[in-house]
Amino acid sequence: MSIAANLQVIRERIAAACDRAGREPDEVRLVAVSKTFPAEAVREAFESAGQTVFGENKVQEGIDKVPVLPESLEWHLIGHLQSNKIRKALPLFGWIETVDSLKRARQIDRVAGELGLRPKILLQVNIGDDDAKFGYAPDVVRADLAEMRALEHLDVRGLMTIPPIEENPESTRRHFAALRELRDHLADETGAALPELSMGMSGDFEIAIEEGATLVRVGSAIFGARG
Ligand SMILES: *Cc1c(COP(=O)(O)O)cnc(C)c1O
Repeated sequence: MSIAANLQVIRERIAAACDRAGREPDEVRLVAVSKTFPAEAVREAFESAGQTVFGENKVQEGIDKVPVLPESLEWHLIGHLQSNKIRKALPLFGWIETVDSLKRARQIDRVAGELGLRPKILLQVNIGDDDAKFGYAPDVVRADLAEMRALEHLDVRGLMTIPPIEENPESTRRHFAALRELRDHLADETGAALPELSMGMSGDFEIAIEEGATLVRVGSAIFGARG
């Protein structure tokens, strides 16, 4: 199957999941995760299927691909951002989905101010996995959110999670529901809008949509298996 055909199938599955959940298809945006695939694969997704939103988990892959592709594409950083990569990442990625500490948020805010940028930020939450390397514990997000929203050069848009791997995708549903509930609590408590929930990948994006995802991050189902 071609990238265009795969994208068509994914879009239909997104629309069907929205339909089941009583949601409008335009409430969910597809982030095509192009990590490990060359810029030419991204170009094909754009030119043959009009895909404009892409995700990378490494800053270096952004350095390699973003400058050689059309400027109209929207790039999301979906991997951990080290402090020494912030200055390189910000001009490439309009969205940083993986902020998981106030310290990192302050660093991003300072560099964004220097560069005249205001990235969209998601707070990565470690829902349901005590061993995860990255991500906020749910009660710590609560403590940091007010201060983070006050940072002038950050546009805090919502939450992101990578749930623990479950044998049965259906078991992941409770983690997606927990992220949505956390967002609802935070929004109530702080008055923050937090409209975005980034959750769901190739194996479980339909379940994530049923539980409220607004951004689904789909890689292998579009570009094929990674080597
Ligand atoms: C690789 C990756 C994805 C996409 O995973 P697939 O299973 O290939 O769809 C989504 N989110 C993050 C954070 C990733 O690193």
